[in-house]
Amino acid sequence: MATFLTSQLDFIFFFYGLAFLLFGAVVSAVSRSPNQTIPWPMLGAFAYIHGACEWFDLIALVVSDNPEFALFRTVLMTVSFLALFEFARQDAGRIGIPVPGRWIYLPLVAVTVFGWYLAGVTGANIMARYALAFPASTLVCVLFAIHARRAPPAERRWLIVASVAFGAYGVAAGLVVPPVQNYSFDVINYPLFIEMTGMPVQLIRGLLACLSAFAIWAFWGQRLIVNSESALYAKFHKRQFILTLSAMGTVLVLGWFLTEVMGGIYKTHVQNAARADLNLIASRLTGETATTEAMVQVLAGSRAVGELLANSPAANRERVDDLLTLETQASGASEGFILDRNGIVLAATARASADRIATIGRDLSLAPYFRSAVAGNPGHHYAFDAASRMPHYFVSYPIRNEKGVLLGAGVLKKTLAQFEAEMAGFQRSFAMIDAEGIVILTNRPDMRLRMIWPLSATTRAALSPFYGELTGAPLMAREFVGAQWGTFDGNRDYIQRHGIDHGSWSLVTWNIPQGVFASRVVGIVITLLMTIMILIYLVARDRWMYDNVQLEKRFELEELARSLDKRAATDPLTGLFNRRKLDRSLTAEIMRAERYKTPLALMLFDIDHFKRVNDNFGHQVGDAVLIELSRYAAAHIRSTDVLARWGGEEFVILCPGISGPMTCLLAGNLLAGMSSLKMPEVGSITCSFGVTEYQEGDTAEALLMRADNALYRAKSNGRNRIELETLPNVESPGTAPSAGGPFETTKTPVRT
Ligand code: GH3
Ligand code: MG
Ligand code: MG
Repeated sequence: MATFLTSQLDFIFFFYGLAFLLFGAVVSAVSRSPNQTIPWPMLGAFAYIHGACEWFDLIALVVSDNPEFALFRTVLMTVSFLALFEFARQDAGRIGIPVPGRWIYLPLVAVTVFGWYLAGVTGANIMARYALAFPASTLVCVLFAIHARRAPPAERRWLIVASVAFGAYGVAAGLVVPPVQNYSFDVINYPLFIEMTGMPVQLIRGLLACLSAFAIWAFWGQRLIVNSESALYAKFHKRQFILTLSAMGTVLVLGWFLTEVMGGIYKTHVQNAARADLNLIASRLTGETATTEAMVQVLAGSRAVGELLANSPAANRERVDDLLTLETQASGASEGFILDRNGIVLAATARASADRIATIGRDLSLAPYFRSAVAGNPGHHYAFDAASRMPHYFVSYPIRNEKGVLLGAGVLKKTLAQFEAEMAGFQRSFAMIDAEGIVILTNRPDMRLRMIWPLSATTRAALSPFYGELTGAPLMAREFVGAQWGTFDGNRDYIQRHGIDHGSWSLVTWNIPQGVFASRVVGIVITLLMTIMILIYLVARDRWMYDNVQLEKRFELEELARSLDKRAATDPLTGLFNRRKLDRSLTAEIMRAERYKTPLALMLFDIDHFKRVNDNFGHQVGDAVLIELSRYAAAHIRSTDVLARWGGEEFVILCPGISGPMTCLLAGNLLAGMSSLKMPEVGSITCSFGVTEYQEGDTAEALLMRADNALYRAKSNGRNRIELETLPNVESPGTAPSAGGPFETTKTPVRT
């Protein structure tokens, strides 16, 4: 499980970074809503910077890393933790907790720099976590808990979740640190954490970042719901929350799956290619040794050599030396020699004359190739030549007489310099390593004599006569066999180790298979694009819904305003305009009459003896009469006339465009129509009318006063009649109807 999750670090970094960037976006949104007491921008800065940091880690993992980039990332990470700390400091200050000034960062950053001084970038990383991340996250945890206590219940639970998430994040990001060499301040380091929990700490941090992001988002959602004051939006928002969670979850799972598949395809490809390359290198090496073996076989079978061994050495030495030189030259070997049955050197090549003098007579009976040859088999042996600092190999072959009796062995020694030179241009990195894992031959000059895996001090001391001081860190964490994905020289790699025929040396290949990660990156990028698209959709949906709710609210308000307006202008019982509205219309009509010199008349009418209706039939019947009468009057006036209830059982009709006498005609029709109306229970009623017309310079009051006078006269003159009142000094434009008696009633109302 742990190995699997570790191999998924790229996706973990991706989603960790994504979670923080989304967290930042949510925090930015919250900070824009009004009346914020929490200093959100600083928390947003932390989330954005930290999210970017994780994505830089991703780049380092999949593309490549170098010390400058690592330093840059550590600085950026430190800055993000500083932002988190500053958020906590500002927030605590606003709550009223006494806080130190910004000078506090000096000692904290100094601790981080001290870590760098002690153990480089890793040291700085660890100290930034101890000195900044842990205290800052813990403070934020406490502060969110305080905010939760003061918040309304709906917001409270999400603030509590955020508080818990930050508390846990403080431990995961502030106390679990990268491993450091030579120091023990990495108390809980990444490998130990994996051992304890079975998962990389980055996964935990990523999950906690997600949790914080969702908590703050849900908190913000509650704010939006409250601000929108809409039940519809609240319901929508809850659905949107679930939709987002499931959509994001699905995208991440699908994206991860895609990433795995893409990586898997390429991984298989890389493995196959690497295997083919290793086989190629091995066969080239075998070819190299095979030709030398053929030559040594020829040498061993030559008569001169047989005689040298069988008879007196001195007699044949010169011929044998010549032959040896020839054979050696032909095989490309650097040296050749003949050993007797006891391992004593009898002849050696002239080319290696200096060596020859040294080795002639030397007992090589312990040399592995000799032992193999005297046992009747061709012998092979690889060795590092300390003097030339070059690997060599020895090929030996038994020498027998005609009867098959073993006489000695022929040996050719060949340097691998040529092989190395030929392989220098080979694309895949490879090395030939000895049994202890020391790189003897390679096409990567910087790897020469490096340790592949760590060796004990004793082993290193034992090897130093051959290889000199072994410097440089081991390329891998531990010895391995076969093929595996692992870290080689700080990079994730596909590494193979394959034993060479004859001997304990091996061939190792590695290659930075960026393609695997690149193809996983395709999966990650597709996931990112899907995430962005879904987020755009969700945000747009939310915006649309929010706008809709706002629009609906505006419509409601407009509707309310309209109805209020209407209510302000109408009389609730009859639905006619009220006195207020009439006053406004009257003023406007007077102005119009004044300006355009058009006639304007005003009619007041009042139900006769209405009190009796109430008294005899009850107030409700009286109301019904008022409604019936209003309806009748409204149906029998011109569209330009304004009918209003003046109060009680008294009504007014404003008639623009017609004169007083003409209005009297209208009044006559109404009078006739009303008195012939069949009122339920009451039977019929009559009304009295007072009419007047506008005369230059009239005010509304004057006009009303005259109409009222006319009405009064109609009442006093016996009711159920019409009176016209004009100013005494102005000639009425028309003939006044007889003001003495009631008008004749007509059945059909006349519209003027
Ligand atoms: P007149 O012929 O002189 O106008 O006599 P009247 O009885 O109609 O006049 P008065 O002013 O004495 O009485 C008016 C009555 O109208 C008194 C009041 O109870 C009644 N009234 C006023 N407003 C309403 C109303 O909204 N509904 C009902 N049912 N009665 C009303
Ligand atoms: Mg009345
Ligand atoms: Mg009245």
